Amino acid sequence: MILKSKLPNVGTTIFTVMSAMAKEHRAINLSQGFPNFDCPTKLKSLVAHYMKEGYNQYAPMQGVPALTKSISKKVNKFYKKKLDPSKEITITAGATQAIYCAITALIHPEDEVIVIEPAYDSYKPAIDLCGAYAIPYSLKGPDYSIDWKEFHHLFSRNTRMIIINNPHNPTGKVFSEDDMLQLQKITQGTNILVLSDEVYEHLIFEGAKHQSILKFPELYQRSISTFSFGKTFHNTGWKMGYFIAPPEITAEIRKVHQFNVFSVNTPVQHAIAEFSSDLQFFQDLPNFYQEKRDFFLNKMEKSRFQPIESSGTYFQLFDYSQISDLNDVEFSKWLLKEHKVATIPISPFRSKLVDEKVVRVCFAKTEDILKKAANKLCKV
Ligand code: PMP
Ligand code: GLN
Repeated sequence: MILKSKLPNVGTTIFTVMSAMAKEHRAINLSQGFPNFDCPTKLKSLVAHYMKEGYNQYAPMQGVPALTKSISKKVNKFYKKKLDPSKEITITAGATQAIYCAITALIHPEDEVIVIEPAYDSYKPAIDLCGAYAIPYSLKGPDYSIDWKEFHHLFSRNTRMIIINNPHNPTGKVFSEDDMLQLQKITQGTNILVLSDEVYEHLIFEGAKHQSILKFPELYQRSISTFSFGKTFHNTGWKMGYFIAPPEITAEIRKVHQFNVFSVNTPVQHAIAEFSSDLQFFQDLPNFYQEKRDFFLNKMEKSRFQPIESSGTYFQLFDYSQISDLNDVEFSKWLLKEHKVATIPISPFRSKLVDEKVVRVCFAKTEDILKKAANKLCKV
């Protein structure tokens, strides 16, 4: 039998590769992004409660009303945006499923989708499956800012979507209000959609305010924004998230969502709805993660790794050019085997090979682990 691959260039993701190697070599795993601490006990008790109470059958396709309502309350509080929960909010199996459904519902063969690289790895395969083209815009370190004039030059008559990710994985870059206004200006009067991946909306430092696309009424009309409970509640394994979009866009994406998964975990939706009524948890997250970032950076002060400013996410980039000439993939593997710390190379986040001699670490870890890892890295 001959199998013709629809994704001939896709292999195992770098996150899976590095996490598996970390296990094999008993290294400290700062590679794949996930916390090594548990989610709130109250949230786990609420899931158990709703399971025991019999909330165990299919949820409504678009999500449990208690949860979509609680999200709309939160969105109004944080971004001053009023939403119709039944028409503009949809609960998904993590942000990944929301992104996949949005792209496959809205992108046609030959369309062009502008992707800001380095980019999270799930965008391009979804675009490829649509028979469309991912057009890369390359961010340059150490600042990773967008030159909007240059960006605008990528527009063609086939441009159908722009994907932005703010705060940005893997760089930790946070895009400003001015960035959003520039994006608004260049898309005005066009048929271009904006997919805004905001899974790290609450992981933002130094008192900065997250510039959600929900805060920009004109941009909102052409937007789909995606969010992840996994990042917010320290439970990436639950694979729960949601997307927000105006009613007409939502209706199209739901056509795919209903045949892709139909609906997602009922007791967990009820539990998150109840837990989310306390907005304090969200408000405490920036400090919680900033303390981890600063703790780790402090322990790394004497190392030869040069930190690159991280203003958001739970990732920190380090330049290792003072240490080695190896490319980033080889360097991460060497570091893992020789020094027992797993990191993520940045080049797999790009479609064209660029070796910046930079690796990413995830600091969503307890202080003992961050300290142990920093001790090892300071010896390199
Ligand atoms: N987008 C980005 C930028 C991410 O880092 C992640 C985390 N893996 C996702 C989307 C997917 O989130 P989820 O785990 O909720 O599918
Ligand atoms: N978002 C996580 C990261 O960037 C990885 C998720 C995954 O393994 N697919 O590390």
